[in-house]
Formats: sequence, C-alpha cells, structure tokens
Amino acid sequence: MSPAAATKGPPFRRVALIGVGLIGSSLARVLRRDGLAREIVGCARSQATRDTCLKLGLVEAMHESPAAAVAGADLVVLCTPLGTYDDIARAMAPGLAPGAIVSDVGSVKEQVIRDVVQHLPDGVHFVPGHPIAGTEHSGPEAGFADLFAERWCILTPPPGTDEAAVEAVAELWRRCGSMVEIMDAHHHDRVLAVTSHLPHLIAYTIVGTASDVENSIQAEVAKFAAGGFRDFTRIAASDPVMWRDVFLNNREAVLEILQRFNEDLTVLQRAIRWGEGDTLEALFRRTREIRRSVVAAHQAGTFDAREPDRASRSRSDPDRPGRPEE
Ligand code: NAP
Repeated sequence: MSPAAATKGPPFRRVALIGVGLIGSSLARVLRRDGLAREIVGCARSQATRDTCLKLGLVEAMHESPAAAVAGADLVVLCTPLGTYDDIARAMAPGLAPGAIVSDVGSVKEQVIRDVVQHLPDGVHFVPGHPIAGTEHSGPEAGFADLFAERWCILTPPPGTDEAAVEAVAELWRRCGSMVEIMDAHHHDRVLAVTSHLPHLIAYTIVGTASDVENSIQAEVAKFAAGGFRDFTRIAASDPVMWRDVFLNNREAVLEILQRFNEDLTVLQRAIRWGEGDTLEALFRRTREIRRSVVAAHQAGTFDAREPDRASRSRSDPDRPGRPEE
C-alpha cells in the first residue's frame, strides 16, 4: 500500500493532514479506526481548530506551520480550501521528506495541480484526489468515518506519476470504503462542473432570489419550504469559502456549462409561454429516468422527508448529517 508496506504494521508511518475540517477529520477518523498510520499529525490555521482536533483525539499533534507538520511524513494530504494551496505548498516544501507522497482532496483539479506542483521538490510524488462525498457542515467536529463509504474517489495523477504512489493513495481510499477511478484532471473538472458545481450555483441563486422577494412572500417561503425549496437551502448552506474557491478555480468549465444551462432554460421558458406541454413533459420524463439511473448506481444518498427531531426517533444514528452529493 505504501512506502512502509514492506514491513509489518500500519501502511503509513506518519500521515500529515494539512487542514482538519470536515474532510480532513473524516480521513483522520478512518486512519485511526483502521490503524492505517503509526502517527497522524495535523495543521490548522486557528488555535481553536488545533485545540478541538487534540481534544477529539483525531491526531497526535497539531501544528500551525505546514513545514513543521509535514516533517518526516510519508503521506501528506492537503484538506484546506483550494485558494490556500499555492501558499501552503510553498510553505511546506522545505519540510517534505524525499520519497514522500503528497495528495489532496480538492474539488477542482487542473488549476490546483498547477498551484502545488511548481513548489514540490524532486523525489516527492504528487497524487491529486477528490472524494465525491461531503455534507453542508464544516470543521473537525462535523467529520465522521463513514463519510466516504460507497462513494467514488477520483484520482488525477499527472502523466508519469510513480505507479506505486498512485496505488498507495488508491488503496487508502479503498480502505475508506470508496470506489476509486483514475481520470485526467481536465476531464474531472468538466464532469464535476456538471454534476456538482452547476447544481450548487443554481441552489445559491434560487435561495438568493427567494431572500430578495417581497417581505410578505418571504414568510411563506420558509413556511412552505418542503415543496422543493428546502433541498436547495441545504445545498446553499455549503461552506462559502470552499465554494468561492471552487468557482474561481474551475472558471472555464463552469462558464461553459452555465451557457448551456441558460440556453436550455430559455427553451423551457418559451415552452411555458406558448403552452407547449409536450416539450415540458418529454423533458420531465427524461429527467425522471436519469434519477432512476442514479438510484440504480447506488449514488442517490439518503433522504428523509421528516424533520431531524422526528426522523431521529427511528434512525440508529440520529446525529449523522445529511450527505448531499459534492
Ligand atoms: P473545512 O471543514 O472548512 O476545513 C478546512 C480546514 O482547513 C480547517 O481545518 C481550517 O483550519 C484549515 N485551513 C483553512 N485555511 C488554512 C490555511 N491557510 N492554513 C492551514 N489550514 C487552513 O473544509 P472541508 O469541507 O473539509 O474542505 C476541505 C477541502 O475538501 C476543500 O478543498 C474542498 O474543495 C474539498 N472537498 C470538500 C467537500 C465537502 O463537501 N465539504 C467534499 C469533497 C472535497 P481553521 O479551522 O483553523 O481555519
């Protein structure tokens, strides 16, 4: 699985998680649960997060400096917002051990590969990754070990990446319960623009529009949210900094798909105006089939129509957050 795999014991000697929020802490929980590392250390910017991680027992040590965190690590995983990658890669580079594997969990790949690769010393292997799993919650307390189970994790190693390093990272994600797919970074960004970035942009827009409508209607919006609006509010509650960075780093692919979306919306607008029911019904039938194929692929996630307090009475893990597609 890793450089330490030749000897008996955990596959990794020392794993450094740069950023221990929702994703980093979930990874820490899996590493701990399954004994995949002899030592786990973390890096966070605020003292509050560093204290919380230690209190939760997620790591052996927390550092403020990325270079101090990565010292002696055979695996380093960047789990911070995309906009931090350039500065963090520059800061951690002097501390990286020869032969170390650097990976990440970022939601955009092409730009961030450019941001990181330029700073890495020779002999360090970079295996970018993206677990397609998440929730609308943030921070170390929001993580849970099952987050990645039965979800895809996409790896986008640049051409020529050391195969053993790719396999070590792939095996780590398989141990998290994920299915692993290797993909070109450019292709990843186009696919995710459709499946994740556009839906989030639409949710942010709808919720923003609803909050702008007249005061008299606003009260009714919250009251009758179960009509569909509620699902958008959950997605629109996703972390503002993370999503700002997603759109700034996947600009071209998002703008391209947004253009197509606008054209399709105009077609629907026209069909409604001219009473073209067949056009509407044909699309809705097609989209219902797409939903069925998502369910058949076991990627539909969980959905409980009841309020959390009512739903929790019949759930084995009432604190478990929702799992929107990321
Ligand atoms: P999060 O819960 O907000 O956690 C971010 C972590 O990064 C915190 O520990 C934060 O520390 C730390 N951090 C932020 N800026 C830093 C800096 N300059 N130096 C050092 N540490 C810094 O975020 P997340 O949801 O886990 O997302 C992390 C990454 O995962 C993002 O790149 C995102 O694209 C990717 N991702 C997210 C999801 C999702 O659904 N959330 C899914 C897949 C992939 P402080 O608390 O001290 O600020």
